[in-house]
Amino acid sequence: MILRKTKIVATLGPASSSEEMIARLITAGVNVVRLNFSHGTAEDHIKRAEIVRRIATTLNRPIGVLCDLQGPKIRIGKFELGKITLKMGDLFVLDADCELGDQFKVGLDYKNLPQEVSVGNALLLDDGRITMSIDRVKGNQIHCVVLTGGVLSNNKGINLQGGGLAADALTKKDRADIKTAVALEADYVAISFPKSALDVELARTLVRKAGGKASIIAKIERAEAIEDLEAIIEASDAIMVARGDLGVEVGDAAVPGLQKRMIRMARAQNKLVITATQMMESMISSPIPTRAEVSDVANAVLDGTDAVMLSAETASGQYPLETVQAVHRVCMEAEKEYGGYQLEQRAVNRLQYTDEAIAAAAIFTAQHLEVKAIAALTQSGNAAQWLSRADSSVPIYALSPNKVARRKLTLHRNVFPFPIEQTGKNKEEILHEMEQVLLQQKVVSIGELVMLTFGEPIGSPGGTNTLKIIKVGERRPIS
Ligand code: PGA
Ligand code: MN
Repeated sequence: MILRKTKIVATLGPASSSEEMIARLITAGVNVVRLNFSHGTAEDHIKRAEIVRRIATTLNRPIGVLCDLQGPKIRIGKFELGKITLKMGDLFVLDADCELGDQFKVGLDYKNLPQEVSVGNALLLDDGRITMSIDRVKGNQIHCVVLTGGVLSNNKGINLQGGGLAADALTKKDRADIKTAVALEADYVAISFPKSALDVELARTLVRKAGGKASIIAKIERAEAIEDLEAIIEASDAIMVARGDLGVEVGDAAVPGLQKRMIRMARAQNKLVITATQMMESMISSPIPTRAEVSDVANAVLDGTDAVMLSAETASGQYPLETVQAVHRVCMEAEKEYGGYQLEQRAVNRLQYTDEAIAAAAIFTAQHLEVKAIAALTQSGNAAQWLSRADSSVPIYALSPNKVARRKLTLHRNVFPFPIEQTGKNKEEILHEMEQVLLQQKVVSIGELVMLTFGEPIGSPGGTNTLKIIKVGERRPIS
């Protein structure tokens, strides 16, 4: 039983698609797998999801599946020779009508780009490795001067510095991919480049229409999304600090501050947050991380993130297992230093809901009484989410008869989901069962104090209204 509070999201790809590697990654501590719809076919993702589910069952571990939609990432077309080399001062044309590129021009997959940019704008290609300034826009052609040169190869991404492109957040491909995500029973669907809360709501509507139960993650990676952050968080179940594209749009130096702001805002709205991209970048080709990467992962933990995410490190790197082991080690250590969100700070806010109030009471008590664990009986997962947001040094065990709820709870900081059998049992029997689950999992021992939260009458979702403190193993009459 790994009692790491911060969760690890690992992207699957060519380096991590075999049964054997997926099993190793999960054993090493991956909580959620990410299927990246920017790469691979629907069949690849369905196959990987099947393997993950099978291994999760064998290992008896809940594992969340996150489907990450490509979104309107704007890309250049292909080159005759696969790539070219640009030098500072070169003239280069991005031409919406060009079929095959050469040293002087290349095509665009987003045909409207020439209509949405202006002279003087800066374009950043390949995550900002190559930059160009727009000299002239002529029909479907954008004439540029290269500011920073380098090798430019097929299908690299383009960002407009400062943001402002109108491209729809959900492309035709995304709409088809939502159906695949629903078919493989995704627990989370992440949308790329949302500009507003409306984009998030549209994604949710499409997922529900397709019959899916997935929670929606908004990837914050556009300059416009920062301006509308409060509303986007409100419309989402979780956000992702998508540092790759965000850094290109707003400038790399702005990202660390924004990361802290996003984590604070998400938590304040009782939403989840994933910190992503280049967390252990050098481990793509090195068995050990740099000190800077170790600090970066640790700082995300200290900021209060729910999860840290690995991208190419586990998808296509040479050391996927070593990377997960390193992240695990760094998170465990950083968590010792984590002070948590001050209870005082939350206490001045008014409590709005009964289950929120129970969570606050449980956390307050946990900080003032020697309790070993908090166990929340939860149908939907809500009760555990409130407890996770209220933050505590005491582990939160989410006991739920609902498999989907348990799989979603894999993303929540300091929440450990376990199954519980409650059909046909009365209240006393269920409370006894809660205690038994904790004992079986060896997370508590006889004589220790444990807090139980549940809703009376037991069994209805979202109704947590009771907090009970018990001494494990103490005899109580079972009616
Ligand atoms: P991506 O999103 O890896 O899908 O581009 C994350 C990011 O931009 O940081
Ligand atoms: Mn991105």
